[in-house]
Parts: sequence; structure tokens; C-alpha cells
Amino acid sequence: MGKALIIGAGGVASVAVHKCCQNSDAFEEICIASRTKAKCDALKEKLAGGKTKITTAQVDADKTDELISLIEREKPDVVLNLALPYQDLTIMDACLATKTHYVDTANYEPEDTAKFEYKWQWEYNDRFKEAGITALLGSGFDPGVTGVFSAYALKHHFDEINYIDILDCNAGDHGYPFATNFNPEINIREVSAKGSYWEDGKWVETEPMEIKRVYNFPEVGEKDMYLLHHEELESLAINIPGIRRIRFFMTFGESYLRHLKCLENVGMTSIEPIEFEGKKIIPLQFLKAVLPDPASLGPRTKGKTNIGCIFRGKKDGKEKTYYVYNVCDHEACYKEVGSQAVSYTTGVPAMIGAMLVMNGTWKGAGVYNIEQFDPDPFMDALNRWGLPWQESFTPELVD
Ligand code: NDP
Repeated sequence: MGKALIIGAGGVASVAVHKCCQNSDAFEEICIASRTKAKCDALKEKLAGGKTKITTAQVDADKTDELISLIEREKPDVVLNLALPYQDLTIMDACLATKTHYVDTANYEPEDTAKFEYKWQWEYNDRFKEAGITALLGSGFDPGVTGVFSAYALKHHFDEINYIDILDCNAGDHGYPFATNFNPEINIREVSAKGSYWEDGKWVETEPMEIKRVYNFPEVGEKDMYLLHHEELESLAINIPGIRRIRFFMTFGESYLRHLKCLENVGMTSIEPIEFEGKKIIPLQFLKAVLPDPASLGPRTKGKTNIGCIFRGKKDGKEKTYYVYNVCDHEACYKEVGSQAVSYTTGVPAMIGAMLVMNGTWKGAGVYNIEQFDPDPFMDALNRWGLPWQESFTPELVD
């Protein structure tokens, strides 16, 4: 039993809040705090009346002082950061100042450079150790469940994992010619960046969307997928012994890519400020303002997601292959919590990570990536809290 402070009130936070309330044995109390308090209040209104006590607060998470006052006032056992990657460091600073555990779902990215990597957050390791508190990084689906799957594969199926392919398929159809399933700014920054994968101890860089494969996803069917750089590659390359190559593929439809190319060509995806009617604006932030709000896609999205990892390595001297994945249905998610599957597949693991840190199942002073903890309690919780996983020992491989 404990109390979580949830920062952010967007698509992912909404699911995490629903799940904390379903899991009221663990989450006796939650405080939802975000920039726009009305969104926190709307969530509270939807969920109040259950066993979990809900409070709300306004906070600018770019300001460490505001966060410290909030944490001192609310006294949570854990802070679950579901704001944007730009706020990771200020929230970690506030957790250090108040000696409170920290959990997030995305690694820090400076707002003015489209480059995400763990180095800034890993630098907090000594300070978290000294303070005797835990920072759990990347407790969403990817990163998140993909790291848990990797730790689980290593623990139960392999002596050594040599190859990992992470496959993220969203076959949902929202009926719009172009919209993003989570924060458009973060999403577009991710997909318009150069791709890269880890091979033989070094990064191999590709042009954006240069490497394409077609994969026949269980319960979904054939989809085009493209190699992207993705943050869990960085930590898995270090934490999975014997690894030779890790790649990440995400599916994109033709309409999405055509629109993205066009928006790129006219400069709408740029993060360089421009002068507009006497004011500086960032084209990508303006684009975000005109695109559909990801939260509004829920009622319109049909179809499934399938996200998982294919591992190849050795067990007892023999070559072995193992595929573990989750299939999630957009409409079923909407029916359950009022959000589509992309928010759902992130919000559920966020709740699970916060629970395991809060109740001490996962403990350790310092900054940890998710694959560094025992995967078993997380794998059990996925089955229990709405993201059941399936496995295959003879999957189709990606060439
Ligand atoms: P949304 O844009 O829907 O929500 C972000 C929320 O953070 C909003 O409520 C926003 O407030 C709030 N926020 C932004 N800036 C501040 C600030 N300075 N102070 C306080 N609150 C702030 O994003 P999502 O819910 O889609 O994503 C949340 C996080 O989850 C992101 O970091 C994203 O990268 C990550 N993610 C991780 C995935 C994974 O699998 N690991 C997958 C998908 C997302 P306001 O309402 O005022 O704008």
C-alpha cells in the first residue's frame, strides 16, 4: 500500500491513473499533477468514488522548486513521471532533494536538440545511490516491456543472447489521413531522425526509414516496418551479455509516410524557431497544435497492436530462437479505460513499474534500466493487468 504522485495528465497518464485505481490494494492514494490542472480534475472526476483516494495539483514540471514543494506537501512513496521527456531531469532533481523514488517511460531529450540518450540520466546514478533511492528508467512498452522481455528471455531461455529484433506493430486505423498515436512532437522527432542499430560493439547509422522489411505479425498480418533508432537499444547493448546485434523496427502505413515526407519537405517538422507575426514559433510545435489530439483518437481507432522481441542465441550449446509478444486491441482498450492501445500499452507498464518500486519488490539505490531487475514479477503483472504475453519458439525471422 502506498501513494504515487503522477506527473502529467495526457494519454499515457490517463491509462496509468485508471490502472492505479483498479489496483487500489497497491495504490491507496494518488495525486495527479500537471501543467493544466483541469485535465487532472477531469480524470479525478471520472474515477473518484473507488477505493483509491485521488487528489490533484497544478505544477510546472520544468521548475524543480515547484516540484519539490509539491512532493513535500503530498509526500508520495514514488513519483511517476508521465509528462514529456524534457522534464525528466527537473523531476529527478526534485526526487533527489526529497529522497523519493522515481519512475519514467522515456529518456531525457533536450527540447532544442532532437537527440535522446541515457547519458544525462545515467549521470544521476551516484547521487541516487547516496540518497538511497531508486530511479527506474523506461517503464513503458518500448522502452519498458521490451527490456523486461529481454531479461526474461535471458533468465529462462538462454545462456547467451546474440541477436534481438524488437518489432513494434500498430495496425490501428483511426480514419484520419495523418495523426500520431502519442504526443505528435515526440513521435515526429523520433521518426524523422536517422535510424541506427547496434552491431559488433558499435552503432551503425542509417538514413531515416532507409531499411524496410515486411513482417507477418501474429493476429495482425503482413505489415511494412522500418528500422528506427530507439532508446532501449542503448541500455540493452550494455545489459545483455553476449549481444552482437540489436535492431528496432516500427510499422508505418503509406499514408503516414507520404504526409510526413511532405510536412518535412515544407519545413513543418523543424525544431528551429522561426519568426511568425512578430513572435518566435517552432514549426513542429505549431504542427502539434493543428493535428488531432492523440487522446481524441481513442473512440475512432480499430485494429490491434503487436509489440514483441525475437531473440536468437544459445542454450546448452545449441542455437535457440524465442519470440515473446503482446497483442492489444484498440477497441477493447477504449472500452476498458477510454484510451487507444498505444496509450494503454504504455500506461499499464508505467503503473506496474511504479507498483514494484513502491512496494519494494524492485529495490536498489541508484539509477536502473528496467532489464536490470528480476523480470518475473513484472511478467506476472502484465498478465494480470491487461497486457498478456504470448510466445513462440519457431517464429518467422527478420533478415
Ligand atoms: P501527452 O502529450 O498526451 O501528455 C503529456 C502531459 O504532460 C500533458 O498532460 C502535459 O500537460 C504534461 N506536461 C507537459 N509539460 C509539462 C510541464 N512542464 N509541467 C507539467 N506537466 C507538463 O503525452 P503522452 O501521454 O502521449 O506521453 C507521456 C510520456 O510517455 C512521454 O514522455 C512519451 O514520450 C512517453 N511514451 C512512452 C512510450 C513507451 O512505450 N515507453 C510510448 C508512448 C509515450 P498539458 O496538458 O498542459 O499539455
